[in-house]
Amino acid sequence: MRFETAAIHHGQEPDPLTGAVMVPVYQTSTFRQEAIGKHKGYEYSRTGNPTRKALEDVLAFLEGGKYGLAFSSGVAATTAVFSLLKKGDHVICGDDIYGGTFRLLEKVFKPWGLESSYVGVDDVEGFRRAIQPNTRLIWVESPTNPLLKVIDLRRVAEIARTAKVLLAVDNTFATPFFQKPLALGTDIVVHSTTKYISGHSDIIGGAIITSDEAVHEGLKFYQNAAGGVPGPWDCWLVMCGVRTLAVRMREHERNAQYLARFLAKHPAVERVYYPGLPGDPYYTIAKKQMTGFGAMVSFELKGGLPAVEKFASRLRLVFLAESLGAVESLVCYPYIMTHGSMPEAERIKRGIKDNLLRLSVGIENRFDLKRDLQNALRE
Ligand SMILES: *Cc1c(COP(=O)(O)O)cnc(C)c1O
Repeated sequence: MRFETAAIHHGQEPDPLTGAVMVPVYQTSTFRQEAIGKHKGYEYSRTGNPTRKALEDVLAFLEGGKYGLAFSSGVAATTAVFSLLKKGDHVICGDDIYGGTFRLLEKVFKPWGLESSYVGVDDVEGFRRAIQPNTRLIWVESPTNPLLKVIDLRRVAEIARTAKVLLAVDNTFATPFFQKPLALGTDIVVHSTTKYISGHSDIIGGAIITSDEAVHEGLKFYQNAAGGVPGPWDCWLVMCGVRTLAVRMREHERNAQYLARFLAKHPAVERVYYPGLPGDPYYTIAKKQMTGFGAMVSFELKGGLPAVEKFASRLRLVFLAESLGAVESLVCYPYIMTHGSMPEAERIKRGIKDNLLRLSVGIENRFDLKRDLQNALRE
């Protein structure tokens, strides 16, 4: 089955009892046992739930993996991966990452005894140099947040394989429609399903996909033991999103291409970050490992913070909000919003300037979006 078909049919057979074409919301905490130990595969909804199972199976299939696990948030999924490690272990992390992942490593796992170091994602060999005897995991995002850098995943995977450490990729920005990290040699794929996968700004969710049985068993044990699972309703809403992922991603990207080109030519814009622009430093590598460039576009305004404030106050159609990947366009100011939890020196070091905006291009009509941006950018 191809992507579009699998998104709608894989793991989603009509309900055997009624023929319902949508997987029912099994809104139950527990399952009756016919005799002690005799049940239909489900005992208790923290351990397993049929609605969640359908979501886990379709996500695994779409990523080209064997196993999927759903979590109550992207951060809960990230926590599960770090929890595979033990005290004294070391994680190498790409330096342009989701602010919450940085906060998790620095404020939660570091006090608990997990070591972490950060490598500039433009220097792939830096990952090799950062490996220590206690390194167990490399964690990267690609494209990165918020600077839309694209990392050569095949090369990082080669470094991880040689050093016998796990490689986890946060594939939230690309989605499996545009990028399949497992096929590039990654061990673990992580998603915030809050974003494109659900696509409608209605739930918070996360997922992990892997083909490594031992890794999956460890994560599955953790999922049940630590309990950060999504409820059946949330899983069902994510499934609704999955079914339209392909059509949404095509439209998101078409709009993003159009707006990135518009912004790149606009005199009020200092710089555009979008791997889909042929002049972008990441265009070539993105073309090599992705089947599309996604729909996140970051840009810097001339005139610093006052220009940003003026721009934000004039937007009507595009909402100023955290989050991304939904049908409506959102703009965020990483310096304060998504990366505010990062110390100022770290933000500066990572190139997150006070004139940077991150646009999540939605699937509204692109001419309407352009007009809204044009109006907000006028002098
Ligand atoms: C939002 C996001 C997360 C965190 O996910 P939540 O669902 O908000 O917990 C992790 N990584 C990336 C790239 C994100 O955009």
